[in-house]
Amino acid sequence: MSLTNTLLTTVLREAGREVSRKQFLTLAGRGLAVGVTAGALASCQEQSSSTPAGAAATPTTGTPAADVDAATTYTAPDGQKIPSSEAASPPAQVPADVEKPIKLEEWKSDVDPQSGPTPTPLPPDRRVGYALVGLGHLTLEELLPAFGECKKSKPVALVSGSPEKLKKVAAQYGIKPESCYSYENYEKLKDNPEVKAIYIVLPNSMHAEYVIRGAQTGKHILCEKPMATSPEECQAMIDACNKAKVKLMIAYRIQYEPYNRLVRDMIRDKKYGEVQYIQAQNSQSSANPDHWRHKKALAGGGALPDIGLYCLNTTRFLLGTEPTEVFAYSYSTPGNPLFKEVEEMMTFQLRFPNGIIADNITHYNTHDSRFYRVNTKRGWLHLNNAYAYQGQQLQTSHAEGKAKMENHITIPTKNQFAAEMDHFSACILDNKKPHTPGEEGLQDHRIMAAIYQSAREGRPVKLPAVQGTDVFRGPEPA
Ligand code: NAD
Repeated sequence: MSLTNTLLTTVLREAGREVSRKQFLTLAGRGLAVGVTAGALASCQEQSSSTPAGAAATPTTGTPAADVDAATTYTAPDGQKIPSSEAASPPAQVPADVEKPIKLEEWKSDVDPQSGPTPTPLPPDRRVGYALVGLGHLTLEELLPAFGECKKSKPVALVSGSPEKLKKVAAQYGIKPESCYSYENYEKLKDNPEVKAIYIVLPNSMHAEYVIRGAQTGKHILCEKPMATSPEECQAMIDACNKAKVKLMIAYRIQYEPYNRLVRDMIRDKKYGEVQYIQAQNSQSSANPDHWRHKKALAGGGALPDIGLYCLNTTRFLLGTEPTEVFAYSYSTPGNPLFKEVEEMMTFQLRFPNGIIADNITHYNTHDSRFYRVNTKRGWLHLNNAYAYQGQQLQTSHAEGKAKMENHITIPTKNQFAAEMDHFSACILDNKKPHTPGEEGLQDHRIMAAIYQSAREGRPVKLPAVQGTDVFRGPEPA
């Protein structure tokens, strides 16, 4: 029995055959279920009878309840007539342009955080279609579900070596059987007009090949981090995309994540004065020595390119400048099969202009720990779970007179993967350079090569000086 029917039965049993509207609503737990149903119905009726599709309707006025027909009743399952809810549509501004938000009637005071704007999803036929290459953890656990929160992106094709996975996942996400490909016939994506972008989600050493082959199909390419396994591969990937005149973006989700973006803005606005030094950590634990992450040929390295990269890339993103020197120390427990081929731990210091030091550690053999603290002249900003998929916690500290002010700041969250994919889609739709293009990935690989060299040689390694701010990044995401 539905909630509404249960409520009706209760109401009628309690109140006899004749119930007033007031009694009904009180007894029915304020009439929520009934009110919602009637409200939705009335608003559809209003829409279909007033504004023609696509026409501007700014602003609409509220529809008085009396106009909807307050006198109507509806029939309960046992034939009883129940007074209908007094449905009304409060004033709202409804721009005809789908990319402009509907502006609803305000009701919150400025004492509380404000809500909105309402989302502006593109209709499905205007969204950018993606082919996902590799159906592993990231694709199945994060990316495919994240399309549900996308406004400009949709999954339209899959590439995998497993026919069973292709069949099941395609059915789950409404992807046509003919839009499922193996690695061997990957190039056939060229002939699929629904595919506008290819998202490479394969082991690191396969990124270069699949980006280069993908670019040759004429589709735009979004590639997971780390971009590749060497600066040389990165350059070849950039060249292939330039030659094919397709866009290349590296999936640095943190640069699209609201808390990290807020910290960056506070730093750049010198909210608590100049940055003095940064401490960052990204660590986790693994247990399967046969996984590609523990094979040098497939992973390119261990903790550094997989998770230490977040400390490196995010620090560069926060400051906007580039390090001039690195100093690193690496360790792997002797005899541990997990770390026979790749490093277990890397600690690395980055020296930035103006004497700023970033002190980073990444570890493959500790409990999950992902945070950074930006120490400034007049305070600090600490982001816990900084590199996690969710759960960022921002704390700041500064002094006011005799008081030490420690604040917890909360802001609305966003699915990072949806934000990142929608940014790439917007770049394709508006023909813009991505905020995190191939050049951003190449710079990280130049620095990681210097970090490995420093750890190997036990001395600091200098990097070429780079003038300017955000020189490897494209325009800001909208
Ligand atoms: P995974 O092992 O779960 O999936 C990799 C998939 O690649 C496999 O399912 C398989 O289908 C395919 N594959 C093809 N050839 C393979 C081979 N020779 N060996 C192993 N797999 C092969 O890995 P994942 O965790 O999904 O990582 C994939 C990529 O995504 C990596 O580059 C990784 O760094 C990146 N990643 C990024 C994030 C992020 O937050 N942005 C998180 C996790 C992983």
